[in-house]
Amino acid sequence: MVRLRFAPSPTGFLHIGGLRTALFCWLYACKNDGKFIFRLEDTDQKRIFEEAENKFISMLEWSGIKIDEGPQFGGNYGPYRQSERLDIYAKYTKLLLEEGNAYICFCSSERLEKLRTDQRRKGETPRYDGFCRNLSKSEASRRIESGEEYVVRMKTPEVPETIILNDLIRGNVSIDTSQSEDQVIVKSDGFPTYHLAVVIDDHLMKITHVVRGEEWLPSFPKHFLLYRYFGWDTPEFAHLPLILNSDRSKLSKRQGDVAVEDFRKNGYLPESLVNFVAMLGWSPQGNRELFTLPELIREFSFERVNKAGAVFDQEKLNWMNQQYIQKLKLNDLQQRLNPFIKKTPYEGKDHKNLKKIIEILQPRLVKLSEIEGRLSLFFENNLEPSSTEVLKVLREENSKKILSNFIKQLESANKLTKDNLGTLMKNIQNETKIKGKNLWIPIRFAITLDTEGPDLNLIVDFFGKEKCMHLAKSALKL
Ligand code: GLU
Repeated sequence: MVRLRFAPSPTGFLHIGGLRTALFCWLYACKNDGKFIFRLEDTDQKRIFEEAENKFISMLEWSGIKIDEGPQFGGNYGPYRQSERLDIYAKYTKLLLEEGNAYICFCSSERLEKLRTDQRRKGETPRYDGFCRNLSKSEASRRIESGEEYVVRMKTPEVPETIILNDLIRGNVSIDTSQSEDQVIVKSDGFPTYHLAVVIDDHLMKITHVVRGEEWLPSFPKHFLLYRYFGWDTPEFAHLPLILNSDRSKLSKRQGDVAVEDFRKNGYLPESLVNFVAMLGWSPQGNRELFTLPELIREFSFERVNKAGAVFDQEKLNWMNQQYIQKLKLNDLQQRLNPFIKKTPYEGKDHKNLKKIIEILQPRLVKLSEIEGRLSLFFENNLEPSSTEVLKVLREENSKKILSNFIKQLESANKLTKDNLGTLMKNIQNETKIKGKNLWIPIRFAITLDTEGPDLNLIVDFFGKEKCMHLAKSALKL
């Protein structure tokens, strides 16, 4: 049975890249009737954020990803927080030490700092020089007993080896162990480093596929050696491509949102965010772009994940979000809009009309949060133009001509609906000799006081004759 894990460090928030890793693991697990495991890699005690675990879990749940095993979920391979597994790591560290695959190192941070500076000066890559590698076990025990601080380091082969990784995405990758140093595997606070903990946990939790970001590729030889020292088979590996900004730099907070919770706050639907994130590096067969979760499960494979970095295209995400919003049933949309409507003064107002208003807005909404700026049009009587562009257009001679004619037409019509708006506009065109955009824009601006918004037919139909008349008259006075 396949078992895949998402193993974030609780350093704050679920990053869009983390969501992609979790999603790919989960899709693959679902596709193969396997399990999806959540493991908290909280061994870096300095970086822990209290609420991070809950935030991660709630964002995964919001995205539709279901956790089979994990802290708060249980399972047969727990505990699932690394900080609760210290006795397990201690047991395996002892084994490595006994078999001579690891050693105690007493080097002070001052010595290491000086070593690095000297190496840099000589143009060498800074790495540990193996100073404590050959300390005798008895000397090490004596120094530990006398209270000296120490770390545990794993040994890399004395004669460098080339290790071949058959990566599910990259094919054969060869990495030389001469690039690796004798890595610290247990820190002076007694906590394991990522490298030790990840190997032990992946093995004991029977993980079959390790899926993680490309930044971990250089660590593979260390992990490979640990698997070898323990005499364990390695799982399959898939190293996912980087996610890039449009200028091809690594995706970062500086250029926009990267936290899943921010996308939620800004009114993206989980359906569209997940669909979008799935396409960051993965592509289905054919040109189709919109996929539900069950469809993604059916289509997903590591063979169709690219090696090259995937560009985060905000426009594409917006397009997808609009597509998904358009497809929602009205009641569902209204429920999803509620948290955003709550932020406006119109909460709880005019329930029947609200539904109608949402129906009018639905086709053009790109993000749920836009509702906050769109309601005033329907609830306020004397809105100001939203921009100087609106004001400028409405003050033009042509606009005045059109609006006066519009008022004249309204006076002789007994009502105004979407059915007679066309005829009415035709009459204005005939009398003013203005047509097309030049004819429609002044009317749209006068009625909505905005440069963009819902379909004019629908708004006019909703407002009716009196209100449109009032708006046209007010626009003439601007
Ligand atoms: N804790 C690591 C991280 O947050 C996980 C890497 C892995 O999946 O092996 O990046």
